[in-house]
Amino acid sequence: MICNICPRKCNIDRSSALGFCGESEALRVARIAPHHFEEPPISGTRGSGTVFFSGCSLRCVFCQNKVISREGGRGKGMSPDELYCRILELQESGVHNINLVTPTHFIGTLLPLLERLKSSGELHIPIVYNSSGYERIETLRALDGLIDIYMPDFKYASSELAARYSAAPNYPEVAEAAIREMIRQRGRYRYSKGEPDLLESGVLVRHLVLPSHRADSIEVLRRLRAITEPEDILISLMSQYTPDFALDTPYKNLHRRLTSFEYSTVCAEADSLGFIGFEQCRDSSSVQYTPDFDGE
Ligand code: SF4
Repeated sequence: MICNICPRKCNIDRSSALGFCGESEALRVARIAPHHFEEPPISGTRGSGTVFFSGCSLRCVFCQNKVISREGGRGKGMSPDELYCRILELQESGVHNINLVTPTHFIGTLLPLLERLKSSGELHIPIVYNSSGYERIETLRALDGLIDIYMPDFKYASSELAARYSAAPNYPEVAEAAIREMIRQRGRYRYSKGEPDLLESGVLVRHLVLPSHRADSIEVLRRLRAITEPEDILISLMSQYTPDFALDTPYKNLHRRLTSFEYSTVCAEADSLGFIGFEQCRDSSSVQYTPDFDGE
């Protein structure tokens, strides 16, 4: 398979070589389990059914899941049939949704699986597409009608920051266009009628505030406001930045936690722009929130 699935456009054959994402064409799953640390309408009371894929097409230097996104070698090879069964088992366990975490680089394999899940009538809970926001429009269009909840990051407004931390100077325009397409597909977010505390459909945009970069966070919010009505989407402003994963980088600002002042300034801007959504407790910036990636 010659791969140009994501904006990296490696144009390589993944049956014999690895792309920037670090993965061949074979599905590899680092963790599949209920997860309780997503936003409240995603985790609910019984957890979100997360499927963490190995590898990543963005590979940020500060990634808290770096053992699977950057270092490789973790996770378990899984056939599409096995993953299909594991997803139905997750549903059986009582989770509120199936949450595909960093699935972009496996979309070629996942598309038929998602079509089968949707058409079989066996899946009764929403599918969440949880991504870095670094997506090609063509790939997202192939997913139209298969995804119930898009949960993209919008990480940077500055091309220079995107180049420095993710080697992706085009990230701001790419993510903005991707989020616009996600909103076009899903429309205004909707809670479940049967379980009104749970999200059933829509777009929830996440943003991790980085130390020393609150001005860029504010610009991210302004760019988001320029492409959507604030009442159409939910946003999640995360303060969980954890320096432990970036201590080997030369960026001194990434070696410390976020301050309360930095975070509250960004939250205030979100309020003034009319966004609604979720803020995080300050004690969320801990390695304890990073799960084990043992393929189970
Ligand atoms: S999915 Fe991987 S191999 Fe394909 S274009 Fe993106 S980074 Fe390259």
